[in-house]
Amino acid sequence: MHTTLFYIIIAILLADAVWSWILEELNRRSWAHKVPERLADVYPQEKFEKQKQYRKINHRFGEISSTFSLVILLVFLWYHGFAWVDGMVQQFTVHWLWRPLFFFGVMGLASFIISLPFSVYQTFVIEERFGFNKTTPKTFVLDQIKGLLLGAIIGGVLLGLVVWFYEFAGRWFWLYAWAGLSLFMIFFSKFYTTLILPLFNKQTPLEEGELRTAIEAMSKRAGFTLENVYVMDSSKRSTKANAFFSGFGKNKRIVLFDTLINDLETREIVAVLAHEIGHFRLRHIIWSTVLSVLQTGLTLFLLGWFVSEPSLSRALGVDAPVFHIGLIGFAILYSPVSEILGLGMTIFSRRNEYQADAFAAKYADARALQSALKKISANALSNPTPHPWYVFFNYSHPPLLKRLEALDRFLD
Ligand SMILES: [Zn+2]
Repeated sequence: MHTTLFYIIIAILLADAVWSWILEELNRRSWAHKVPERLADVYPQEKFEKQKQYRKINHRFGEISSTFSLVILLVFLWYHGFAWVDGMVQQFTVHWLWRPLFFFGVMGLASFIISLPFSVYQTFVIEERFGFNKTTPKTFVLDQIKGLLLGAIIGGVLLGLVVWFYEFAGRWFWLYAWAGLSLFMIFFSKFYTTLILPLFNKQTPLEEGELRTAIEAMSKRAGFTLENVYVMDSSKRSTKANAFFSGFGKNKRIVLFDTLINDLETREIVAVLAHEIGHFRLRHIIWSTVLSVLQTGLTLFLLGWFVSEPSLSRALGVDAPVFHIGLIGFAILYSPVSEILGLGMTIFSRRNEYQADAFAAKYADARALQSALKKISANALSNPTPHPWYVFFNYSHPPLLKRLEALDRFLD
């Protein structure tokens, strides 16, 4: 039984890699050689050539990094790497709580070290070459350290909680774990901009001036208080521009990148802000949190069903079944299911984007939003013609041309 499971695990990893490769390849073949007519004003020939270079290099980089991590994972599985790490950990501790925590600590650290050269290359070579990078080595190092610590604390607490429930709550452990993780997800989504984001960026309330006055009237009409609009110093990392809505209740907040304010005209910024207010008024954050909670429930229910199955641990080379090894086996076997559920989330997210665009057309100006989207997209050198399948499976936002088309309905 466990040998069959082992080969199923390998097959799932290979199938997933082939599938991603097919999508990437389809996407590569749909690259436009000419600027789409609608984007000619934001993509002059020279910039379009630069865009082609950028996606070519990113495509190549993606191929190399994903092949590299797949090979490492396969070799690791083949030589029972998980059992080997677990054996090492057991020389230090066999305690029910410390053993899984140390195990995932070692695995997390290893994957951090493996991916580090790739993120250095991405930031300081690719992004630098195309003029996007503003990250100093100091900021980069601090980001990595903060990210590691944050991952260790949050990951450690959540994993510790799940292991503790597993140890003491028996077969209903998944219900307790579901309650715990759900509370955490709600807490995290509510307090993200006040607790986590300040570790990485400074946010300041919108200054008095032309922009604030322009925003004031629109946000009143759209039903949002201006006190909740902040500007973030994203220009210390990258020139790419964005804006997002986060949190709910008292902690709701719209964050505008300072790069957005530099790149766009006032009426365009007002339109982007109206789009973000749309996400709030149409309750998109609340609904995606509800969906994630339901998805987590299903995952934990199935985990509770399978994790104690001895052949799951044996498939990974560990004879006496343990929770943390079972968890890894389960995660890989479950990945096709989670991919399908994730697909549901991206479809939902694209629908939300169209709705927020329509909201912005109503409370601000469709034409201003169109030109804002064009500028943001062209400044980031995004692909103007992604393959429809690639979009369907990967894009959380509809592609630019589709959004422009949908906004045409609101032009008079
Ligand atoms: Zn949006």
